[in-house]
Amino acid sequence: MNIPSSTRNITTEAALQVLAEAAQMRQNGANIAMLCVGQPDFAPAPHIQDAAARAARDGPHGYTDPIGIASLREALAEYHEPDAGHSLDPARFIVTPGGKPTAWLAILMLAEPGAEIILPDPFFPVYETSINFNGAEAVTIPLQEKDGFALRPEALRERMSDKTRLVLVNSPANPTGAMLSEAHTREIAEIVAEFPDAYLLSDEIYSRIVFEPHRHHSFLRYDFLDAQLIYLNGFSKTYAMTGWRVGYGYWPLHLVDLATRFTTNAHSCVNGVAQVAAEAALRGSQDQVVEMTRAFRGRAAVARAALEDIPGVSCVEPAGAFYLFPRVGGGLSSVDMARRLLRERGLALAHGTAFGENGEGFLRFSVAASEAEIMDGVGRLAAFLADLG
Ligand code: PLP
Repeated sequence: MNIPSSTRNITTEAALQVLAEAAQMRQNGANIAMLCVGQPDFAPAPHIQDAAARAARDGPHGYTDPIGIASLREALAEYHEPDAGHSLDPARFIVTPGGKPTAWLAILMLAEPGAEIILPDPFFPVYETSINFNGAEAVTIPLQEKDGFALRPEALRERMSDKTRLVLVNSPANPTGAMLSEAHTREIAEIVAEFPDAYLLSDEIYSRIVFEPHRHHSFLRYDFLDAQLIYLNGFSKTYAMTGWRVGYGYWPLHLVDLATRFTTNAHSCVNGVAQVAAEAALRGSQDQVVEMTRAFRGRAAVARAALEDIPGVSCVEPAGAFYLFPRVGGGLSSVDMARRLLRERGLALAHGTAFGENGEGFLRFSVAASEAEIMDGVGRLAAFLADLG
């Protein structure tokens, strides 16, 4: 069969593959510590569930506006106003089935052979997949454990050129939990603004899962970047709605029509019931977001302390999101280590290189699981490393 090489060579999100294998093992009776999943172990708050139940009965039942129900986009504009410090235009929000499609779409629209897309490594895997698929060149910025995986603006500046079409940033970051400081956020915005043909895709999907005393700083704040910023966010993480598939982008005005044509061709619109629930999430109590964040922070602290007690293991303290990204040593590649941990010890984790070459030597733990399960997992890793010698 004559399938294009770009199609044949497409890569995927390893964490979801591990999840599938681990779930199968569990179904077959294995005792698995499941720490590979990037989704909150909470259910959406009752007011979100109630809104969905009402909408399932009363509608909307048909196609909605392809860029999202107007009242949801108005709610998004209000909700993000404090992040921006100025008013936002509801007509520039494009609601998508989850946050992922905004990244895929931005890269699909902007990438082509000869174009360069800059991204810090480690990164969220879908970025690299879509860059490669579209024939552009991924230019990585290796982040260092010794810097707490911080993205240094100078490293971005060194890589910017007339070929740069897009810069990808993700704060708080998956898989490291690192966050951009206010000064670095501004500096990065200023650097990108010096290259008017380049866009910045800011993936802020973990912006509400931030640990005190850290503060999230949104790129929405910078008016001077308005024509270059593609902002990504969604309901999956903040409201524990991964399976509901609602996310969104805030697009430069001049790209809204083009992006809408793409989304209309791809999926027509997002499930109407889920959109109504998403609006209820924005307008309702935010108590559960606070409670979840507190839980993730507490679990991350306990697990990190236990990881650092294992000889040869080090782990940067995350500022947000719900992951730990320890360096584990042990002399195995991170792929082999993760595979053996799953098959021999029943510990499901994502390997560091699932997030880019620079993740070699690291593993990603999700703390979106009970403290008992997390500590069980840390214990399995400690025993495995001790047996490796
Ligand atoms: N961006 C980052 C950095 C993520 O970690 C994820 C999910 O893991 C997403 C985007 C996509 O989330 P979703 O498509 O489920 O909304």
